[in-house]
Amino acid sequence: MVVHRGDGDGWTRCALGHRHWGLFGAAGLLLRHGDLVLLQHRAVWSHYGGTWGLLGGARNRGETAEEAAQREAGEEAGVAPGSYTVTGSYVDDHGGWSYTTVVAQAAKAELPTGLTGETLEVRWVPADDLDNLPLHPGFAATWSTVRAIA
Ligand SMILES: [Zn+2]
Repeated sequence: MVVHRGDGDGWTRCALGHRHWGLFGAAGLLLRHGDLVLLQHRAVWSHYGGTWGLLGGARNRGETAEEAAQREAGEEAGVAPGSYTVTGSYVDDHGGWSYTTVVAQAAKAELPTGLTGETLEVRWVPADDLDNLPLHPGFAATWSTVRAIA
């Protein structure tokens, strides 16, 4: 059911003993507009299906986290790279595997319309309301930290 393939697609284990998707790590795009955050409702069949998280996925070999986050947001939801400005990032390093949250500011709170099968829905959610949603555990663990990156 994976709709796109890269050489980073695959499961691996980090130094903390977790199982993670992304042989070279993974990255996600935290797209913000004012107090709104763009969240992805993940397809039920996906890892932690049914939870809400960031558009993103596995990094490919030689690809920066920023490049991967932007590529995945485009592939999964049709988010155009020219519609936002990257302003910061945060690396959650588990040892042998890391997840980079790439923070970006969108010019407009537009809803992307190029959704693939990995996504049930995308929604702009007020930052204060995120805790009311069932969040992907990886995103939930870093949200309070990455929220402070403007
Ligand atoms: Zn881990």
